[in-house]
Amino acid sequence: MDIHTNIPLKNFTTMKLGGNARFMTEVRTPQEVADVYNSAKAQSLPMFILGGGSNVIARDEGFNGIVARMRIEGFDIIADDAASTTIRIGAGENWDSVVKRTVEMGLSGIEAMSGIPGTAGATPVQNVGAYGQEIADTLISVDAYDSITNTFGVLSAADCNFTYRDSIFRSDAKGRYVITAITLKLSKNQPQPPFYEALQKYFDEHNMHIFTSQIIRDIVIQIRNSKLPNPATTPNTGSFFKNAIIDKWQVDGLKAINPNIPMYEMADGTYKIPAGWLIENCGLKGQLLHGVRVYENNALVLVNESATSYLDLEMARNEIINKVRDTFRVQIEQEPLEI
Ligand SMILES: Cc1cc2nc3c(=O)[nH]c(=O)nc-3n(C[C@H](O)[C@H](O)[C@H](O)COP(=O)(O)OP(=O)(O)OC[C@H]3O[C@@H](n4cnc5c(N)ncnc54)[C@H](O)[C@@H]3O)c2cc1C
Repeated sequence: MDIHTNIPLKNFTTMKLGGNARFMTEVRTPQEVADVYNSAKAQSLPMFILGGGSNVIARDEGFNGIVARMRIEGFDIIADDAASTTIRIGAGENWDSVVKRTVEMGLSGIEAMSGIPGTAGATPVQNVGAYGQEIADTLISVDAYDSITNTFGVLSAADCNFTYRDSIFRSDAKGRYVITAITLKLSKNQPQPPFYEALQKYFDEHNMHIFTSQIIRDIVIQIRNSKLPNPATTPNTGSFFKNAIIDKWQVDGLKAINPNIPMYEMADGTYKIPAGWLIENCGLKGQLLHGVRVYENNALVLVNESATSYLDLEMARNEIINKVRDTFRVQIEQEPLEI
């Protein structure tokens, strides 16, 4: 395992900001994960696991510890019956390649999550989701290294405690587990309508009545390309803010401020308000704040146009959060985690 020193984190995160990692390495097996954690412990250094860096913001002071880039490969069918196929996938596999492969196998369950950057192992961390699917829907379990007990184990989906863009991996057990593989159970049935609003609208407008996971994947990629900047050329982390979740008692007060405010009732009785709508309706869409652009095609996305530091991004972020709060009395919060 090679260990490199003073590596700029901006080269490994899609927002292209932030200072240096004191040490950086790559882990290609679960045992290498344990080895690097034990080595860090022996030197009293903090550890950070990095996937594709598409949901991480690096701070200007950098990271005074070891950053391990997840590179564990694997794609193994572990069960197969008339209705479903169960696959164990190495945490370092590229997520969109995994989706492509399962769609080509005629399976459904993750096709609407096409085009999401990053690694398979990061998908449980924020319960990745898009266009009506989230990883919690198909995930059976994760293989994980427990850095507290220095043991390997398996966490069931229930253990992961998935909620909207959240799980134990970014709340109660943040930093404790390294996911080394995920196991998904995918269906052999083709996807059935009704679909997520934006998809259903596309199908209705184009008079489409036959649905396969390949068709869903193709349309999702087409819609995403029109709404999201490509991180390879335009630094961003996708949605920079989580949608706001409010309690039922807040609904009437908000409707009084703005009767057009869109709200979607969730299964648990709370209401989701699209953060992009809130930002747009504060007049911030397209604005350049401290070198950070509120993306013209989607106000939920912040693009690093000319920011040179985390501080620039922090100032832009706080201005947006404060303006939304002052206008709508709703608190929105940052989605990407920070290193
Ligand atoms: C253009 C664009 C579009 C996006 N669209 C979506 C979308 O539609 N839906 C959505 O949910 N997200 C979306 N994202 C966010 C992001 O792609 C996902 O959150 C993705 O899962 C992050 O993967 P990553 O490998 O880049 O993780 P990283 O950014 O490297 O890491 C994210 C967090 O997960 C932790 N982590 C990573 N790997 C592991 C592991 N193996 N074990 C334990 N912890 C780990 C890291 O420590 C970090 O805290 C988008 C991002 C971009 C840039």
